[in-house]
Amino acid sequence: MTERKKLVAGNWKMNGSRASADEIRAMIQGAEALRSQVEMAICPPAVLAGLAGDLVSGSALGLGGQDCHAEPAGAFTGDISAEMWADVGARYVLVGHSERRTAYGETSETVRAKAGAVLRAGLQPIICLGERLSEREAGETLSVIAEQLERSTPVPDETGGIVIAYEPVWAIGTGLTPTLAQVAEAHGRLRQALRARLGARGEGVRILYGGSVKPDNAAGLMSTPDVDGALVGGASLKAADFLAIARACAGR
Ligand code: PEP
Repeated sequence: MTERKKLVAGNWKMNGSRASADEIRAMIQGAEALRSQVEMAICPPAVLAGLAGDLVSGSALGLGGQDCHAEPAGAFTGDISAEMWADVGARYVLVGHSERRTAYGETSETVRAKAGAVLRAGLQPIICLGERLSEREAGETLSVIAEQLERSTPVPDETGGIVIAYEPVWAIGTGLTPTLAQVAEAHGRLRQALRARLGARGEGVRILYGGSVKPDNAAGLMSTPDVDGALVGGASLKAADFLAIARACAGR
């Protein structure tokens, strides 16, 4: 069976400041203790990337971006390239988060181009996807997420270390989560789609669950079949909560 090391990534969204340095130091300490079992990373806002990159440098806590442009450089005011994330020491970049798909109209094709750019820069894209509530209620979840995976994932020969994050849109920031059976069903379908798209390499791709992961529900979610870690929003801002989730992921 293919071993997939679990990954717990924190999406800070538009939160945090330079005063978050103490939380980052506490996260680094916790990540060191868990390093043999779980990989950990934070994705702070871009203006904190330099500060966070310096703090996490050489530690067990990785750095990630929240988004990137598909081009390496150029006249794209306000944007940041995957190469720039690499330059500040990032290992990951989130692409296709539902907030970007919804608020900025990003299509799966845009997401695939960004994911390809992240691979080109030598980093791992965390490709986010998930169904809306109306799609779940219509019984379309499995077909919607399989199609999103197919359209958002770079073609096989570009594919190095991609990560998938299954995030039901209705579970993000709401305190609602799918049942463990629904999570297992969705992750199983995504694994099948990965195998179909990438062959044997699809077996090694980590599939994270995201959407209202908290210290008190993490143990159940993280021990669900085919769940290889978590993408955490609100609960990743405080070291105590984020580390409690990572410990649950490590089975502690
Ligand atoms: C997210 O934004 O990716 C997320 C999972 O948020 P939350 O954990 O707050 O639901």
